[in-house]
Amino acid sequence: MSKSSAHFRPSPAHDSAAARQLQQGYPWLRFSDATLEQDFRENHHRHSRRLVSLYLGIFALLVLALVAVDQWVLHRADNVLLKAIQYSAFFTLMVSVAIAVTENRFTRYYPLVVQCLATSLSMFVVGYELIDRPSGIPTIVLTIFSLYLFVGMRFVIALCLGVSVMVAYLAGMKLMQLPAPELIYDSCVLLLANVVGATAAYMLENLQRTAFLEARLLTEMANRDGLTGIHNRRAFDERLHLLWEQAIREQQSIALLLIDIDHFKAFNDCFGHQAGDHCLKKVAETIATATRRPLDMSARYGGEEFAVLLYDVNRKHVEQVTANIQAALKQLGLSNPVSIPEPHLTVSIGVACVVPHKSRTSYGVVQLADEALYAAKEAGRNQVVIRDVEYADLTTGAFRNANNLIRRLG
Ligand code: GH3
Ligand code: MG
Ligand code: MG
Repeated sequence: MSKSSAHFRPSPAHDSAAARQLQQGYPWLRFSDATLEQDFRENHHRHSRRLVSLYLGIFALLVLALVAVDQWVLHRADNVLLKAIQYSAFFTLMVSVAIAVTENRFTRYYPLVVQCLATSLSMFVVGYELIDRPSGIPTIVLTIFSLYLFVGMRFVIALCLGVSVMVAYLAGMKLMQLPAPELIYDSCVLLLANVVGATAAYMLENLQRTAFLEARLLTEMANRDGLTGIHNRRAFDERLHLLWEQAIREQQSIALLLIDIDHFKAFNDCFGHQAGDHCLKKVAETIATATRRPLDMSARYGGEEFAVLLYDVNRKHVEQVTANIQAALKQLGLSNPVSIPEPHLTVSIGVACVVPHKSRTSYGVVQLADEALYAAKEAGRNQVVIRDVEYADLTTGAFRNANNLIRRLG
């Protein structure tokens, strides 16, 4: 079960923890990657919280119905005061559970809170049924099913609790020296309830894990460039927006590098488009390797252009990064006969280095980097042009002046 054959398959080029896990399967309901497992659990708890609130509401209504049946159909309200105390205690517990699972303040403690409350609630039911025995085994069966299917606990924990409830109830019966045939019958019923509940809970968690991995894979693939495997334009735009906001809050600088392969059309014409694709992959890998800090990001901006975002940088660091990229590309040893004077594949890099301000949008930084890239091309290619102080005078939308445009077209 849970092998990827029946499910969504990632493209063979896509490699990630989620893709590998989906391929391997997870018969023990545990992902081998610790971060993935942690993310699944958080996601699982978030979803369970909604389910538990709904379940509590239904459960409270059912208990009210039982009270009504007790009172008016079976006429069992022998000690009204005792019943009132029992039901008040029960409802106080229910309200505490409701608060504990829905309050955002307790999110961190949610699994622990649910486990403790589920344990005390089910042991309360066991004790109540043993002492009072109003309905006996059906209530215990319902409790076991609830633990497996409605409380939102993971399978392993539900299994431990389900078995504990069964053992506690049977031990109670033994202690109370109830007749042996009744004990044997109840043991069989509770064992069956555990088998059915555990099987359903296992399959449910398995499906939840599959859905989690597939959703993650889809997001990953929607944000990756199909050819090079690095982030695509969509992911870049999103990250730029997020980093821009973060930089405003933290008063940090951002650098945007636009990297364009020189004379790439000629490279394609000379070696063919497949060699061109191979070259794009190599360049993407090289650029990604040069930008490894947690908030840095490299992406394919489009065609033979790449973008790199660096957070909290100064000009010296930017110069270092661009020099590393150019040196690493030279080491790749890809030749481009059209490149003069260097016959190897080169890139031009335009950089905008700015400290974002809340009165401006991120369009400005892209425009400034674009202008720097054009300047690098005009300066003869295989160049790096860094713009920073120019940001203060930049008028967004006025993309270069008309004279420049006419000169280029001419
Ligand atoms: P410049 O130095 O001015 O940047 O010249 P260039 O030839 O690199 O620029 P131009 O815009 O004239 O050509 C870009 C080329 O990039 C044309 C296109 O065939 C190639 N290209 C864009 N995307 C891909 C791709 O995915 N695979 C391959 N093989 N080539 C691509
Ligand atoms: Mg280009
Ligand atoms: Mg180019």
